[in-house]
Amino acid sequence: MINGRISAELLDSRDGLSAKKNEFVLPEGVIYLDGNSLGPMPRAAQIRSREVVENQWSNDLITSWNKHQWIDLPELVGAKIAPLIGAKPTEVICCDSVSVNLFKLLALGLQLQPGRTKILSQRDNFPTDLYIAQGLQKILSSEQCELIAVDEADIESFLTEDIAILTLTQVNFRSGQVHNIKKLTEKAHQKGILVIWDLAHSAGVMPIELDQWNVDFAVGCGYKYFNGGPGAPAFVFAAERWHSKLNQPLAGWMGHISPFDFSPEYEGAQNIKQFLCGTPSVISMAVLDAALDVYRDLSIDDVRCKALQLADFFAFQVSQSNELDDLVLISPTKHELRGSQLAYQHSYAYAICQALIAHGVIADFREPNLLRFGFSPLFLTFSEIEQSVSILRKIMSEKEYLKEEFNRRQKVT
Ligand SMILES: *Cc1c(COP(=O)(O)O)cnc(C)c1O
Repeated sequence: MINGRISAELLDSRDGLSAKKNEFVLPEGVIYLDGNSLGPMPRAAQIRSREVVENQWSNDLITSWNKHQWIDLPELVGAKIAPLIGAKPTEVICCDSVSVNLFKLLALGLQLQPGRTKILSQRDNFPTDLYIAQGLQKILSSEQCELIAVDEADIESFLTEDIAILTLTQVNFRSGQVHNIKKLTEKAHQKGILVIWDLAHSAGVMPIELDQWNVDFAVGCGYKYFNGGPGAPAFVFAAERWHSKLNQPLAGWMGHISPFDFSPEYEGAQNIKQFLCGTPSVISMAVLDAALDVYRDLSIDDVRCKALQLADFFAFQVSQSNELDDLVLISPTKHELRGSQLAYQHSYAYAICQALIAHGVIADFREPNLLRFGFSPLFLTFSEIEQSVSILRKIMSEKEYLKEEFNRRQKVT
């Protein structure tokens, strides 16, 4: 546990990850505490985006599918993500969005569980995860699919033999609270329940061992800690033991065992490619592919360790500032219970966030009254953390959040 009495300079001088910051393009004068929502741009991603647009697409046209391996990108990117989440390269594929991938998994998961119809999730899960289950519920009858969304404290008591699938997000997007994947997966399996984990707020910043933990399926995000750019494609993990047993419902041609036979009958690939649906978004996926190279020489344990230190340093400084007494920390303080973000409650959270942004500190706001700070360890310094708390202190002591300009709501909050 770090405390704020150690100077930021000393912490920065001891930071083994400090050189990574040079691999990102970051604007001058901005402290970015929102890498958990949209990762910043790695230099390699910028270079690749130009290469794809200015050379591959423009000069090599359709021959690029072979020449630049566009056709293999979903598998290549999946294989790059695999070691970062404790999976085999053949168990992960990059495609579509988290939402779409969750639909595929919930629908095929129900088919794997004849006689069971219930999907168990958490009421304060990320809304899209719940919406996708609700959408599935609408196209099936209630005898075929029923979503049960319970409070976090009740999850374990609902793990009974009538549940088909348990689907949860490892790190809660509001509070940063972490689920113990290993323990919950084990408990679910004891009752014959399949598990689907959403790793959106954890992949790339938390140690994850999907194979060791015996996870069945997972999804995760390309544009958060993996820094793949706005709307970067997501990924799917499916444990190898399931590959020959699945009926992926979005049976598009790219998931066909041999798409270029153009056969009128669908026959799904037997490997991870069965999760593909249509043509991959090549430009986005190529950019994500390059962005992932930031991780080439990193240990996730080191990444996690610095993320916790940054957050501890921030929380300690906030707790020592009288001006910040009104900010109520709702994130767990224990390391094993907390992801890579801290959320503070305040009735003016939205306006405080806008004031921070006006001063060059980008954080974000989540309804109804949360100010959320993300601690991406690959580009943040301890000095920046210190500086951001000092700006926050000024905003609070001068009550800048009362200004009308900071209280006007924008479309994206
Ligand atoms: C960010 C996030 C998503 C995003 O889903 P998309 O369909 O890729 O937009 C889904 N689930 C969780 C838990 C998230 O944090």
